[in-house]
This record gives sequence, structure tokens and C-alpha cells, in this order.
Amino acid sequence: MTNIAIFASGNGTNAERIMDYFADSSLARVVLVISDNPDAFVLERARRHGVESVLFSRAELADGERPLELLRQRQVGFVVLAGYLRLVPDGIVRAYEGRMVNIHPALLPAYGGKGMYGERVHRAVIEAGEKESGITIHRVNGAYDSGDILAQYRVAVKPDDTPDTLAAKIHRLEHRYFPEVIETEIGKLQIRERMRLLLISNSTTAGEPYLKYPIGRIGRFLEGVDEVAFVPYAAVTFSYDAYETKVQARFDEIGVRVRSVHRAADPSRMIREASAICVGGGNTFALIKKMQEQGLCAAIRERIDSGIPYVGWSAGSNVTCPTICTTNDMPIVEPASFAAIGAIPFQINPHYLDAHPEGHAGETREQRILEYIEANPGVWVAGLREGCMLQLEGGVLQLTGNRPMRMFRRGVEPFEVEPGSDLNFLLG
Ligand code: ASP
Repeated sequence: MTNIAIFASGNGTNAERIMDYFADSSLARVVLVISDNPDAFVLERARRHGVESVLFSRAELADGERPLELLRQRQVGFVVLAGYLRLVPDGIVRAYEGRMVNIHPALLPAYGGKGMYGERVHRAVIEAGEKESGITIHRVNGAYDSGDILAQYRVAVKPDDTPDTLAAKIHRLEHRYFPEVIETEIGKLQIRERMRLLLISNSTTAGEPYLKYPIGRIGRFLEGVDEVAFVPYAAVTFSYDAYETKVQARFDEIGVRVRSVHRAADPSRMIREASAICVGGGNTFALIKKMQEQGLCAAIRERIDSGIPYVGWSAGSNVTCPTICTTNDMPIVEPASFAAIGAIPFQINPHYLDAHPEGHAGETREQRILEYIEANPGVWVAGLREGCMLQLEGGVLQLTGNRPMRMFRRGVEPFEVEPGSDLNFLLG
């Protein structure tokens, strides 16, 4: 159950819709309404709903410390700005990064920014002769109306519309969609908090035995698990049986039994009944083709979303991304599509390599990834060097290993992130 706090400065019809919407929800509930305005009717609405309401002075809200303390005391996990006219201070924005949304009564980025609220927005839209307007629900960052857009809904502006009639149409959109978008966002956050992923760049450090370096971490990650469902389909030049045997030999050290899905009459059912999943490396195209044919992408996604641990190495890490487009492998077989499990919203390039052999004229790894981001704006690619892994647990994504990870996204100069840094920007 996620506790919601609503910040509002005025009448509070949106706040009331949200309180009503979540009144019987098993997902979330409104526990707090915060206002900067002693005359705001939203305070009365909160009282009627039996929801705690707190008035802070402008100075307290600008400073943010006391409101943040209250949010923490009430274990608030999600903040909604519903007609809140002040800038939220940095401390609260940082504490609720990715967990705070605002609604704006126009189609941002148009008709937004400081001073653009309520009637002024609608008047400006009509004066500009716009044919449509609408609402924008977006994440909150430190500036007015400029965080990532989550959803927009549109409505026609008719020649005889006045700011009042347009406002009424916009309010209908707000009341209909704002609670739903909040619910979707909270649902996604709850899934992310449940998810347990260990995504390893490579199975083996050169000169060492197979899976030797990561086995300690895999053992800790799988603590309490007796058996994993293993997906061996990345194997190409050796049999699935041989792959299972090889992995089992290493997993014996951590007391975990490996059962390969290729033996099951119904592999997707085996995944649905598994208490942990492992996907091994090899050729990513061979792997995804068979996973798609057997319906394993959806089955694995379902299990990951429900919180069972997933361990992947190399190709097994590639397939947790939205697509397999940042693999290093050759397309030796043709899958129905490049779509993968999509458990994480960014792409991984495993075995990320800086070196470029002397006298070799082919593309560097960096050049190949720069081509990918050129064609796929808005997507992060994580160049995961050998010996490194990403772990997602309790909603926190962490890089471990002794080397940094190289980050790519169109329009951003490639940069390095060190193990232990905050990687939440990758979770979208
Ligand atoms: N072939 C790699 C593996 O070992 C995957 C990759 O390089 O993309 O699974």
C-alpha cells in the first residue's frame, strides 16, 4: 500500500477526485493534504474525507524541511501536486524523484511555466486561436512544468469557447484521467520495488573457470532459493544438456539445483511455477528466437514483476532490456522481432569494450552504440564492462564491480558512472 500526499492551493476538486478514487483501493490511499493557503477549500474537502490536512506557511514551504519531515513521518511514497501554485523546494523534489507528479491544464510545453495557471492558461490558449487544448500529467523536477511528460489528453477548442467553458472541459479531463495516471504510476513503482534482478556483463573473466567470479554474488542473491529454472537457448555450438550440466557444476557450490526449461513439456508453465529464473549467455538471437517461440518473454516478465529473483549473464542480461538491439552478437537466426522482456527501461551492452586493436579499421564499440542512440533517441544505453553487474532490489539500481559503466544517450556527452553512484535516472 502506497501512501499519497496531495499538495494543493485552491478549491481542490482534483484532490477530492483522487481521495474518492483511492478510498477503497488496495494499491494506495491518500493520507495527507498539504496546503499553503489558509482559505483553500481543499482543506475542508480533506476534513470531510477524514484525511489529515496540514497548512504550512509560505516560508516553511519554500524551505521544505518541515513538510519533508511530515511526509517521512506519514511514510508518504507518492506526492501529487493538484493545483499547487508554488515551486516545490529541492529537498522534496530530490527525496521524491520519480515519485511526484503534477497536472497542468494545457498541452505542455506550450502554455506552461511560471505564472501560467488556471484561467490565465485558458485565456492565452483562446487568444492564440488554438484549435485544441488539453491536460498534461508530468513528473516534477525543480522547475515549473518541465518534468518528463507521462500523459496528455486533448479536447477541441471551439470558436465560441470562453476561458470558463474551456476550463469546464479541461476539468472533466482532469477528473477522468488524473487518478488513473496516478494509479498506473504507483503500480509501476510497486512492481519496481518488488523486482529482483542481477544482470551480469559476462560469465567468465579471462583465464578463470566458468562463472567463477560472479558465483559468490549469485549465491547471496539467491539466498533461500533451492532451485532455478534455467533458460539455455543461447547455446549454439554445444547442447542444452551440456549447458545445464556446466551451470549446475558451478551452482553446486551455492547449493542450488539447475533445471533447464528445454526438458519441460511446457517451458512457459515451468517458468510460471519457478521460484527463481536464470538465463545464460551465448548468442542473443538464438536465445530470443526460442524464448519468443515458447512464450517465455511474457512468462518471465510476469514472474519478474511478481518479485522472484532473476539472474542473467551476457545474452541473459540483453534479454531483460526492451529490445536486443544492443547485443554484440551476429544475427545467426531470425527472431520474429527484436522485442525482449522489457523488465528494465534501458538497454545494456554487455562485455563493453574500450580497446580497439591497432590497425583495425572497423567500428569501435562506442561508435556502434553512438549509431544505436542516433537511431533511438531517448533511450539510455549502459556499456557494462566485463567483471561488472547491475543489481536491482528494493527499487534501487546499483552497479558493482571494479570498473565504471559508460553511459550513452542521444544529445548527452557519453559519461562514466562509478560503482555505488545513484542510477535511478535509468529507471525512468
Ligand atoms: N555473446 C554475448 C554472451 O556471451 C552477448 C553479447 O555480447 O551481446 O552472451
